[in-house]
Amino acid sequence: MIGLASVLPEDPLRREVEAFAQEHALARRSRELDADPAFPWDEFRAMGRARLLGLTLPADRGGRGLPLRRAAVVLEELAFHAGTVFAKLALQPEFTSVLGERGGPDVRDRWFVPLLHGEALVSNQVTEPGAGSDLTGVTTRAVRSTTGRLLSGTKSQVAFAADASAGLVYGRDDGSDAGLTAWLVPQELPGVERRVVPDLGEHWMRRGTVTYRDVPLPDGARVGEPGRALDYLRKELTHERALLAAVYLGVARASWEETVAESARRVAFGRPISQHEAVAFPLVEDGTRLAAAWLYVEQTLISAEHGSASAGAAAMAKWLATEAALATIDHAVQFHGGRGYSRELPHEQRWRDVRSGSLAHGTDEVMHRVAARDLWPRPTG
Ligand SMILES: Cc1cc2nc3c(=O)[nH]c(=O)nc-3n(C[C@H](O)[C@H](O)[C@H](O)COP(=O)(O)OP(=O)(O)OC[C@H]3O[C@@H](n4cnc5c(N)ncnc54)[C@H](O)[C@@H]3O)c2cc1C
Repeated sequence: MIGLASVLPEDPLRREVEAFAQEHALARRSRELDADPAFPWDEFRAMGRARLLGLTLPADRGGRGLPLRRAAVVLEELAFHAGTVFAKLALQPEFTSVLGERGGPDVRDRWFVPLLHGEALVSNQVTEPGAGSDLTGVTTRAVRSTTGRLLSGTKSQVAFAADASAGLVYGRDDGSDAGLTAWLVPQELPGVERRVVPDLGEHWMRRGTVTYRDVPLPDGARVGEPGRALDYLRKELTHERALLAAVYLGVARASWEETVAESARRVAFGRPISQHEAVAFPLVEDGTRLAAAWLYVEQTLISAEHGSASAGAAAMAKWLATEAALATIDHAVQFHGGRGYSRELPHEQRWRDVRSGSLAHGTDEVMHRVAARDLWPRPTG
């Protein structure tokens, strides 16, 4: 058989996710959140109750403890039913797992444990107007004062800028340019300003800018050691990128299967359009590409589970899956004809949502740079 479904493993978790998606009408909610963006607290809490938050995190830290490969199956299935939104929300604890690993008791109990229950939301604040792919340009800084540390700077492109009640902010600790430090900063503190900047897709993220003007950092706000925050972030990113690849493939599987069915139904020039090679051949290629991408992603996750997946392999997993997914969804728009371009069908939203995969969590170009480092490591010494 051709297509992604033919290589997906049998796993009871797929049925569990399907039942959850149906019970909570996730496909419909995904369309509603595109038209009328807001943070989906009800569904997020339900995901917490269903143990869909913290899939890969160890059970002793409140997670579900799934192997990466099985977590990818869950994410692919969530994305198949309802696009990127709930699959990416499922990864939110992984995106801030440093809180559970390195945060003090206040941070863990007040923010990380509630996050696993879908009761709190913490944004990741790394990017700045002058620093994205290259974080050497980060200027956000905590400066010592008589009463403690005061945080100043601007973070941009932040997902959940409007809705997160705390931000994990990466900046420079007083007097140190050696490396970045992370602090957990409640967003209602005096001197914090938030502004949403509307996006092409994934409207539910309500991304935007967060500005800090001499914000007093609470005691215990620092997460991990001073100057070490990027080391923690890089460790997380390898797993995250390979898991995100599964999300994009799941979205594309939905569009591909719907297009295969539509091509058998829709008649033009006296026969179903599937009988025109110009329609059939790209769909055969897309099905093959999605299946091949899944096998690569799965293998990368299995290696990661055993500690042997390289950052480059994970980077290429995200790139490969995003490319395959975007091409597939673009064909879905095309072969549904003019309706494919309309909001009557889900393909245009899926394309806009998946388009972020070439940018978020590292751009395609940076993914190649990471992989090239595997091939040609930088000389040491
Ligand atoms: C949907 C979405 C969600 C996001 N969520 C968050 C978030 O929650 N928190 C957060 O902090 N950030 C977030 N980001 C920001 C994201 O991390 C940055 O957009 C990304 O790292 C790129 O940084 P930049 O936008 O500053 O682009 P730049 O780094 O300025 O890059 C501009 C262009 O130059 C290319 N380029 C840069 N360096 C090289 C190189 N060495 N070789 C070749 N090409 C290069 C890039 O690939 C890109 O095409 C999000 C982005 C998106 C799209």
